[in-house]
This record gives sequence, structure tokens and C-alpha cells, in this order.
Amino acid sequence: MSGRLVTLGSKGGPAIRPGGPWPTSSLLELGGRVIVVDGGLGVTHGLTDAGVNLKALDLVFITHLHSDHVLELGGLIHTAWTAGLATPVQVFGPAGTQDYWDGFLRSMKFDIDIRIVDEGRPDIRELVKVREFSEGLLCEEEGLRVSALRVDHPPVTNCFALRFEHGGRSVVFSSDTAYFPPLADFARSADILVHEAMLEAGVDRLVARTGNGTRLKEHLLASHSFAQQAGRIARQAGVRHLVLHHLIPADDPAIGEADWVEAVRESWAGALTIARDGLVVEFADAVAA
Ligand SMILES: [Zn+2]
Ligand SMILES: [Zn+2]
Repeated sequence: MSGRLVTLGSKGGPAIRPGGPWPTSSLLELGGRVIVVDGGLGVTHGLTDAGVNLKALDLVFITHLHSDHVLELGGLIHTAWTAGLATPVQVFGPAGTQDYWDGFLRSMKFDIDIRIVDEGRPDIRELVKVREFSEGLLCEEEGLRVSALRVDHPPVTNCFALRFEHGGRSVVFSSDTAYFPPLADFARSADILVHEAMLEAGVDRLVARTGNGTRLKEHLLASHSFAQQAGRIARQAGVRHLVLHHLIPADDPAIGEADWVEAVRESWAGALTIARDGLVVEFADAVAA
């Protein structure tokens, strides 16, 4: 069965820099479905660059409401609508997602109303269904099964890892989390584990550059995982392929792919990919590795 994962935006955190990577979003094509996981800035362009026809937008999952995961959700759906979207879109997100969407619609009321009248478009308000979720089974339709696990990302309490399964294939996204051993059970034997990762050597330089020093560093250490810890989860879970994603830092010229590989190899000997924007992982690769 064919399918692929594309890491559309691979950096952790909301900042963007000249020529640098975009905040977090992913495309998962599984069982013939087009699935978007997170809607950080750049998600719309990332999807079109990955060859997705925006009219085919179908399922969107938001892991938590930090802006690097949700800022462009409205922009994505609205752009798909102006591209001719005429079929329903389901948006799964934590508590607060409906509020975000309602606020977006309010902010764009002028444009939405005028395009319906002037261009004869269907009402975007009727095309989109927001489904707020907590832990457990989120949806089961046409052989696709999606479940969620609350992870450890203080001070955000509604932050969820997601597991997608179809036809014997499984892909798990850690979302943002500190080292969280229950994730190993949740990701058990997955074909691909997409885990967030931080590199110790880069954190101090990142904090110095960003300018709010100690508080930012405390947040990073309390609520994110080091690459070595992501590797440990992958090993405990017995996954086939580990993809490091949501990289912190992702745009430090002093840190390259070799540094990430070196760190994760302390705990993980299996198939490994370090994400970058637009990187494709085919399921065949994941299985062969
Ligand atoms: Zn994040
Ligand atoms: Zn976050």
C-alpha cells in the first residue's frame, strides 16, 4: 500500500529567519486520505509544494494550540476555499479549536461574505466541522483509525500525541512533549514515529539570540525532549523508523544534520531521518529500513 509522510515545516517555535525553515506542519497520505497534522506558518505553501491539490483538503489535526502549530490553520482552509474547495473538511483539535475557528471566521467576515456573493462560492462556514477531542479514539472511518494520548508539555495541558492506522500501517506523532515514557506504549511497533527533538548544544545559543534568556530556557527544558530522549522512546516502542521533527534549534548554522545524528545514536540504532522542510518519507522506505 502506498503512502507517504512529508515534513512540511520542520522547526520548533514560532520565529522565522531569512532562508530558514518553517514552523511545524506535516502531511500524511495514508489509505488514500490527505491528512494534515498541525498548521504552523507555511503549511499552505508546504502542501502545494508537496503536490497536494488544496481542493482535496479533507482531514486536519491540531495537536495543541501553541501558535507554531496552529497560526495558519485559518489561512490554510480559507486558501483552499478560494482554490475551489467544495467538500467538507473536518478539523480535529483540542478544547479551544472551535473558538480559534470562530474568531478566524469573524476576522474574515468581509472577505467571506463578498466572495460568496461576488464569486458564487459555497459558504465556508458550512464546509468546516470542528471536532474537539481529548484522549482516546478520535475517529474511525473507511479503515482509518486515529487515537490520541495526552503528553507532557507544561504549561499546556491539552497537548496530544496522535496515532494514525490504516491497513496495517501506523504513524505516530509525539507532538510537543518532555520525555514521556507512556509514549512508548502508545507508539508500540509503529512504522514511523515522528518525535520532536532538541539539541543541548544549540539551546544556549538559541536562548541568547532570542533575548528572553532564563524563562525561555526553563520552558524548553521542562516541556521538550532532547534528541537522545526521542531515541529512547523509539527504542522502547520498537518502531521501524524514527523521524526527528520540530527541531530546536533548526536554523543555527553551527548545527548540522551530523550533530543530530550523533546525539540520537546514543540511544537509537535503527532507521533514522532528520526532518527538513519538504522532506518525504515513503512507507516503502520505512518498511525496508
Ligand atoms: Zn511547538
Ligand atoms: Zn508547544
